Amino acid sequence: MLLLGQWHNYDLKISVREHERSLTVSAMWEGGLFTAAYEGGGRPRTFITQGTVYRRALDGRMLAKWRPAGAQRQRRWLTQDEALQMEARARGLVQAVYDDLQRGVLQTNVPLPPLGHTLFQRAIAWDEARSRADARRYRAIYLPIGILPPDQYSAIVLQATLGCSFNTCTFCTFYRDRPFRIKSPEEFRSHAEAVKDFLGEGIYLRQGVFLGDANALVVPMRRLLPLLEVANQVFPAAWGSIGRPASRADGGMATHQSAWGGIYAFLDGFSGEKKGVNDYAKLASLGLKRIYIGMESGHEPLLRFLDKPGTPKDVLHTVQAMKDGGVAVGVIVLVGAGGHFYADAHVRDTIALINAMPLDSHDIIYFSELVVTDDMPYAQQAAAANLRPLTHRECQAQEAAIRAGLRFRGSKPRISRYDIREFVY
Ligand code: SF4
Repeated sequence: MLLLGQWHNYDLKISVREHERSLTVSAMWEGGLFTAAYEGGGRPRTFITQGTVYRRALDGRMLAKWRPAGAQRQRRWLTQDEALQMEARARGLVQAVYDDLQRGVLQTNVPLPPLGHTLFQRAIAWDEARSRADARRYRAIYLPIGILPPDQYSAIVLQATLGCSFNTCTFCTFYRDRPFRIKSPEEFRSHAEAVKDFLGEGIYLRQGVFLGDANALVVPMRRLLPLLEVANQVFPAAWGSIGRPASRADGGMATHQSAWGGIYAFLDGFSGEKKGVNDYAKLASLGLKRIYIGMESGHEPLLRFLDKPGTPKDVLHTVQAMKDGGVAVGVIVLVGAGGHFYADAHVRDTIALINAMPLDSHDIIYFSELVVTDDMPYAQQAAAANLRPLTHRECQAQEAAIRAGLRFRGSKPRISRYDIREFVY
């Protein structure tokens, strides 16, 4: 429901989304247009003001993103104090609007529905102590979540495994802080239940389950199946209903059998017990919808330089088996990897590998630009090998060259960008 009004001589909008249990307030505040969006339990989600978008992560950190005129997008993680100050500024807006609504000073085209009152009150009650406590609770449930594919930012992450079973890739530092470990079904169930409890009404804004960490699907079938069963039992919405309010199109009666999204995961590197078509078909029958593979490149010498486990042939066989088993794929290409030295071969062999894959409109190809930080072994190895890095423009040209070479037999997969600096869970 959208409520419109005038507040201090400027337009005001209040959006109360029943099926998402979310509240968004947009009004003139502190000298500029300010938008504040909240989950159903009152947890802040996004603020927008003065051309900057602030995304609050579940651990309480906040990423600010803005684009200066004519320049590339900029980003910065706020300090904890800055993040709490942003929450306080937004809370001030929500409180002031609600007070004026209550006093009858602010008139809107339609009255605030009962759910709207509840959401306002919860957003106002989300004070600094609550925010800090929520972040502590998050950290007790999760180890830091390194990355998700962009189409999975709204998933419910469940850490069925911890870390990466390889941890060798020189450009990746996401899981260096933890050894690889597979959770028992009992431990995983208690984690999943804690996640569900923690998300509370925020769950209505989430879609599907992402099975973490890095390569949860490397787990042998006999151990993986019970974990998927637990995910389905704790989050039956991945299949059917968690009591999520039905949409109007359902006549208010039906549950969300298919809209809720299913189960997703990474499979990265290939070793140990390989899965075949029947395994993937079994996983699909348990709700697995798409697997994301960090293929990085089709050029094997570049994979060796990156210390990436597996070969292009392994990737191709695995994608074929997944597709034959009824599971969609997301393949991720690392743009700029290997700098100028590997550039031509990277483009040529990546095109050839993707073109050999049986991709269709259910699949996604992601182009992820290499982001090098000083703590990455890649930084030292590239310097030792005298590799000249690609500039951002050269990376864009490399992506364009790969895209130009892609040919698909039938319907086209989605092709998109994947910027690891944008990730917020
Ligand atoms: S296999 Fe994936 S998660 Fe593991 S180190 Fe390599 S890129 Fe990182």
